[in-house]
Amino acid sequence: MQIAVIAIQGNISEHINSAQSTLLAMDIQATVIPVRRSGIIPSCSAIILPGGESTTLGRLMEQKGIDTEIKKAASSGIPIMGTCAGLVLLAKDGGEQVRRTGQKLLGLMDISVDRNAFGRQRESFEVPIEMPILKSPYNAVFIRAPAITRIGPDIEILARFETYMVAVKQGNIIGLAFHPELTDDQRIHHYFFSLL
Ligand code: GLN
Repeated sequence: MQIAVIAIQGNISEHINSAQSTLLAMDIQATVIPVRRSGIIPSCSAIILPGGESTTLGRLMEQKGIDTEIKKAASSGIPIMGTCAGLVLLAKDGGEQVRRTGQKLLGLMDISVDRNAFGRQRESFEVPIEMPILKSPYNAVFIRAPAITRIGPDIEILARFETYMVAVKQGNIIGLAFHPELTDDQRIHHYFFSLL
């Protein structure tokens, strides 16, 4: 089995390491592949879309033809996880900033997001959040994070922080405003790979 980590820009090595160690701990035989070009995703069983800069990521994925491959893979039902900028790319609607700049999104989740929702004073922070899918609080790392401001009827809320939704699921697609690859806590990756 092959797991794709989109490796165009952002927290790539951290995601690869977290995925590899979680798969090992779960005793799942799989190779984690950094994906920089088209032609690899069709043979992968799950896709991780790391954080970074969603404008750049979206543009480069389109140039390389990776965006259409991800959309096709999503319609086949394989698990996909987007974190931070990856969450922005998964959204159908990116709010005012995305509309103004004409930024390209994959539009795979029926949600609206607000990029950089937490503002300058709180660009980066770590906070314990409650997640119904986990038995105890999870320390979430937010870095210039987006927030989810609207959800459609098929969306399950996995976590909230203050007035925002910060983790959601739609079928086999998970979107997180925070960075599970930046902590040693593997529970989110574990949950993701349990969807395989
Ligand atoms: N603020 C970035 C964006 O909207 C995301 C930040 C991140 O992925 N850490 O693209």
